[in-house]
Amino acid sequence: MMTSKTLSLPTTSRRQFLKVAVFGAGAAALSTVLIGKARAADLPHLTLDDATAKALGYVEDHTKVDAAKYPNHQSDQDCAACNFFQGGDNDEYAACTLFPGKAVHRNGWCSGYAPKPA
Ligand code: SF4
Repeated sequence: MMTSKTLSLPTTSRRQFLKVAVFGAGAAALSTVLIGKARAADLPHLTLDDATAKALGYVEDHTKVDAAKYPNHQSDQDCAACNFFQGGDNDEYAACTLFPGKAVHRNGWCSGYAPKPA
C-alpha cells in the first residue's frame, strides 16, 4: 500500500521538480503568445466579396465608406480605433472579433465599428 511517506521526494528532487514545472509553465505561456501572434499574421485577409463583409459594408480604406449608405460613419473611425480589432500599433492587418478566421486592415471600417474604451 502506498502512503504519503512512500510518495515523498527528497528535498533536492522536489526542487528539481519545481524548477522543471516552473520552466515548463513559462515555456508553455511563451509558446502560446508566439503561436497566437503567428496565427494572427497568417490569417487570410478579409475580402470585399465575403458575404459578411458585404453585409456590414466592410472596406479596407475607411475614407472610401459609402457616406450615403452609412451616414453615421465619421472620419476618425477605422479598424485600428475599433474595440474589435485585435492588433497592436504596428500591425497592418489583424484579427477582428466580428470576422473570425480573417484579418482586417487597420485602415478599414465596417458598420460593426465600436470605439475602444477611453
Ligand atoms: S468590427 Fe471594427 S475592427 Fe472589425 S472590421 Fe468592423 S470596424 Fe474593423
